[in-house]
Amino acid sequence: MIYNRVALIGLGLIASSMFWGMKRGGLVGEVRGYARSAETRDTARRIGLCDVVCDSAAEAVDGADLVILCVPVGVMGAVAAEIGPHLAPGVTVTDVGSVKREVIDAVAPHLPEGVHFVPGHPLAGTEHSGPESGFAELFDNRWTLLVPVEGSDPDAVARLRKLWERLGAFVEEMEPDHHDLVLAVTSHAPHLIAYTMVGVADDLRRVTDSEVIKYSAAGFRDFTRIAASDPTMWRDVFLNNKDATLEILGRFTEELFALQRAIRQGDGDHLHAYFTRTRAIRRGIIEAGQDTDAPDFGRGGQR
Ligand code: NAP
Repeated sequence: MIYNRVALIGLGLIASSMFWGMKRGGLVGEVRGYARSAETRDTARRIGLCDVVCDSAAEAVDGADLVILCVPVGVMGAVAAEIGPHLAPGVTVTDVGSVKREVIDAVAPHLPEGVHFVPGHPLAGTEHSGPESGFAELFDNRWTLLVPVEGSDPDAVARLRKLWERLGAFVEEMEPDHHDLVLAVTSHAPHLIAYTMVGVADDLRRVTDSEVIKYSAAGFRDFTRIAASDPTMWRDVFLNNKDATLEILGRFTEELFALQRAIRQGDGDHLHAYFTRTRAIRRGIIEAGQDTDAPDFGRGGQR
C-alpha cells in the first residue's frame, strides 16, 4: 500500500479516474473526498466514488498522508488556504492542474512547515467532466509530469511517482516554466484554435447548422470534440498560462499568415513541404504509442 489515507479535493474527471485507478490496483487505504457542491457530493455517494465523502475540505484532509487537489487551476490557491491549517506535518500535497507556475505560486504560501508539496499534471483527459466521467484506465500508458518545487523531499517525490506508475502512467520530472511552455504547444494553444474554429463555423450563417453537423466528419468533428471541453477549466488554463500561450499563439498566427500567402500566391511547393513536415509529427506520436494508427482514430465511417 503506497498511502494509508488519501484525500481528493474536487471530484471530477481526474479525481474520479484516480479513485477508480487506485482501487483497481489496491494502491491505497481509505480515500476521502470533497467537492464544493452538495449535488456533486450526493452523486459521489450514490456511485461509490470515495470510501467517505465529507462535507468540508478540512474533514477530508484530516489524517491523510496524501492530499490531491483536483479542482480548476483558478481555485487551487483558495482551496490550499482552506486546508492549510488542517494539514499535519509529513503529509504530501499534490495537484493535477494543467498549469504549474501559477498554481505553485498560489498554493505554496498556504502550506505549513513540514508539508511536502509535489505538484503534478497527468497528461490524460477527455472532453467529459464531473464525478461520473472517470474511469480507471484513463492514465494507462499516458504521461504524468511531476514538477517538484525547491526543497521538495526526494522520498515524497519517489512515493508519488510510484503511485502514478501503479496507476499506469509513465512519469517524468519537469521544471515549472518549461512545463507551461510545452503544454502551451501540445495542449493549450490547440484547444484555443479548436474553440476558434468551432466558433467560426457557428458564426458562418452561409453554412446552415444542419450542414455543419451532417458533413462534420470532413475534419470539423475532431475540432468539436476538443471544443466541448469544460469551459471553467479552460478559462482558468488560459488566464493562468498567459505568457506561454500568447507566445505560441503569436507563432501560430505568423505561420497561418505564411500559409495564407502561399495559398494566395499558388505556392504549392511551400504547402506540400509544410504538410510533409507535419505528417512526420503524427507518425512520431503513433510510434511513441500515444495514439492509434487506425484510419480516423479507429472510428471507421466516411471522411
Ligand atoms: P471537473 O470534472 O470539472 O471537476 C472539477 C471538480 O472541482 C468538481 O468536483 C468541482 O466541484 C470541484 N471544485 C471546483 N471548485 C471547487 C472549490 N472551490 N472547492 C472544492 N471543489 C471545487 O474537472 P477535471 O477535468 O477533473 O479537472 C480538474 C483539474 O485537473 C483541473 O485543474 C484541470 O486543469 C486538471 N486536468 C484536467 C484534464 C482534463 O482533460 N479534464 C487533464 C489533466 C489535468 P462541483 O462539481 O461541486 O462544482
